[in-house]
Amino acid sequence: MSRSHIAALLLVILLPAACARGPASPGAQPVAAPSQPADIAALRLADWQPIPQLALERTPITHLAVPAVDVHTHLRRVVDVAAEVVRMNAIHVETMVNLDGFSGERLVRELDRFDRAYPGRFLTYANLDLTLVGAPSWGERLAAQLATDFEAGAKGLKIFKDLGLTVRTPEGRRVALDSPELEPVWRTCARYRRPVLWHVADPAAFFAPLDAKNERWHELRESPSWSFADRARFPTRAQLFEERNRVLERHPDVTFVGAHMGSSSEDLKQLAAWLDRFPNFYVDMSASASELGRQPHAARRFFVRYQDRVLFGTDLKSANTAGYEVYARFLETEDDYFGTEAANGRQGFWMIYGMQLPAPVLQKIYRDNARRLLWPADPDRPAARP
Ligand SMILES: [Zn+2]
Repeated sequence: MSRSHIAALLLVILLPAACARGPASPGAQPVAAPSQPADIAALRLADWQPIPQLALERTPITHLAVPAVDVHTHLRRVVDVAAEVVRMNAIHVETMVNLDGFSGERLVRELDRFDRAYPGRFLTYANLDLTLVGAPSWGERLAAQLATDFEAGAKGLKIFKDLGLTVRTPEGRRVALDSPELEPVWRTCARYRRPVLWHVADPAAFFAPLDAKNERWHELRESPSWSFADRARFPTRAQLFEERNRVLERHPDVTFVGAHMGSSSEDLKQLAAWLDRFPNFYVDMSASASELGRQPHAARRFFVRYQDRVLFGTDLKSANTAGYEVYARFLETEDDYFGTEAANGRQGFWMIYGMQLPAPVLQKIYRDNARRLLWPADPDRPAARP
């Protein structure tokens, strides 16, 4: 039992995954109620939604064990920021890193309504305006806009996964992650000492053929555009990782945070090798509870060993209490066999198990690592020109 959960355990019958669905992750589709054929032997796989018969104890959770910094949120659709702060207070989220800052004038508006309206509670990151790709000196222009955005108060740079996967020049050339054109962008991050939160590639199953062996068939069936298996159109996952790693190596003076466990939560051995090799590389655990929680023993060992390199993140689009409960249950408790739908939609057709991390490790992952790595000297003042 986590020390914060001294209340009595509740005896609950686990609800089926389909009944416990909360707000979905980006692009996740709601699952239709199962339709049952007259002949049960003809039930379709897509309609099979079994209800676990386990009677299990569930730890009651009222808030996170440590006032947390959530380093991976998308707040572009939040209208009532004050209400958001009330919910953050209730669940013990001290600060949200808002990765949807955009650039230019829109960024300034986002900084005004989040960072400057609630000092210390939001750190808004800029994004690259990739419509510039292909224009004359486009890399220099991206870097110049980024410098302007940092001076306006952006606390870091978020790069979405479309770079490397789908972004192409007007002539049709894929922009590799280690393209020479992007060098001025990395140098600008170094010059302003701003971290890069970088989403590269996606889960392994999204690059594997969509066939009877694909372990995330359910999601890919609902959202076929998430599949990057077509080798004529997309690079391999390994190629994207190699390109990213060359940038990590070339820019040791830039702090890189790999979104979603660096997209390697299925292969923690590979991720450990990257962390060992690149001291400027860190990862956030956002949208990864489903992958990590089906291997709770390996994941726990990993989190303990790399307790200075993993940051708490969720990929949530608001201070969604039910979503944070999933993460608290996974990180803090030893609860068995629960779903992650309320946080990030259904990811894989399996349940997860809590890691019950030690209190000092929770303290680092929830808060201290982010405070150490991502905090500007004065987060609510615009960056001074170095
Ligand atoms: Zn995200």
